[in-house]
Amino acid sequence: MSTAVGIPALEDTYARAVPGLVVPFTAAQAPDPQVVVLDDDLARDLGFDPEALRTSGLLVGRVPEGVRTVAQAYSGHQFGMYQPRLGDGRALLVGEVVAPDGSRHDLHLKGSGRTPFARGGDGKAALGPMLREYLMGTAMHALGIPTSRGLAVSTTGERVPRDTGPLPGAVLARVASSHLRVGTFQYAAVNGDRDQLRALADHAIARHHPHARDAEQPYLEFFRAVVEAQAALVAQWMLVGFVHGVMNTDNTTISGETIDYGPCAFMDRFDPDTVFSSIDHAGRYAYGHQPPVVRWNLARLAEALLPLIDDDTDAAIAAASAVLEGFAARYDAHYGAGMAAKLGLREPDESLVTDLLALLHAQQVDWTTFFRALPRGTARDLFLDRDAFDAWAARREAARDPEADPDRVNPVYIPRNHLVDEALTAAERGDLAPFERILDVVRAPFTERPGLERYTEPGTGPFVTYCGT
Ligand code: AMP
Ligand code: MG
Repeated sequence: MSTAVGIPALEDTYARAVPGLVVPFTAAQAPDPQVVVLDDDLARDLGFDPEALRTSGLLVGRVPEGVRTVAQAYSGHQFGMYQPRLGDGRALLVGEVVAPDGSRHDLHLKGSGRTPFARGGDGKAALGPMLREYLMGTAMHALGIPTSRGLAVSTTGERVPRDTGPLPGAVLARVASSHLRVGTFQYAAVNGDRDQLRALADHAIARHHPHARDAEQPYLEFFRAVVEAQAALVAQWMLVGFVHGVMNTDNTTISGETIDYGPCAFMDRFDPDTVFSSIDHAGRYAYGHQPPVVRWNLARLAEALLPLIDDDTDAAIAAASAVLEGFAARYDAHYGAGMAAKLGLREPDESLVTDLLALLHAQQVDWTTFFRALPRGTARDLFLDRDAFDAWAARREAARDPEADPDRVNPVYIPRNHLVDEALTAAERGDLAPFERILDVVRAPFTERPGLERYTEPGTGPFVTYCGT
């Protein structure tokens, strides 16, 4: 469907491939939409003229004649409990944009009003959480981690009621290589026939893992590709100290991108039990549990795919289980290589890493600070028991690659929790300056700049994030 000048055509290959998995739905009218932030570079990369996009209405769901926005159906396990019908309760897929480089992206809105999937929710979003998602996506992208990205946040001109009182309402326009989730497959496995499930898998293969099409067992190979993408992704989270916070199967993508930034946060001092989310009482999604949780979510994907893998269920289970067994080795390979790069080693060294983690944990050392300090010779100062550090450092020195440049992979700036909060609080009061500053800082995470010392320091005291945003 062609649109205005400076606005690329919006395609709908997903809605056409699996019409039974979408519900056409229109965004709620925003009384007074105002663009608060827009990523001009991202807009241009996608083929938009940023100014045309800013005034188009597209960012709050006012679409050209003939464009059909849809809510996507999915189900999922939330904290281990199966919910048969989740879906885009307050989100809409505006369409797919094919960028000038040929890559396909979903343009998706969050906070655009109640859909048939809204259940008890109001379909709306508050400004703070939408800016938070925008900031986190920007930071993760700059860190080189696959992620959905905020294209823009607009206020709607209305207030949305929340526990703490009415807040400014907002819509996030985000971009992802797709919004296919493990939960989408779970939904399709139970609702509709095998042809629809196959159509969904074929769409996902074409879009994300095209090599699988030519494999002897395309759907098994597809599963292997998702296992690989998710193993790589969670390893990257672990390497930067990212805690997603709500790793439900509906928030686990087929593409291997990070999606749905809710109560996520970056860990300060190293502790595998780190949890930020106020509702994660059992620590199901704690930092150190993330790899086994991804594996668990992938097992749910395997279950959904069984009818496509083999007509004989036992054979399908055996084949999928064998692929899932490979998750641990793939995760270890990504994490081991990543830690070797962070530590500037010649090759992965598991015992050196294990012993470092024990030291960092026992001595409550800040994760991000440590890796920048190490090549500068100042890491020792971060430890109370310096002898223990010295013994470890001598082993690391022996394993060190003199050619390595660990600063390339170790960020000096991450979105520090207290500074994110400070920026969002100011933004909700109408002062966007702190938000713009922190956005600017995290856009270049590996380059140390004078005057930004404040952005390198961990906050004091425990930090809690809230869902139900
Ligand atoms: P999330 O926690 O953002 O991954 O969302 C989980 C589910 O709750 C999804 O089906 C969302 O669409 C739905 N949801 C979250 N907040 C709202 C809201 N304010 N109104 C309607 N649905 C919502
Ligand atoms: Mg979600």
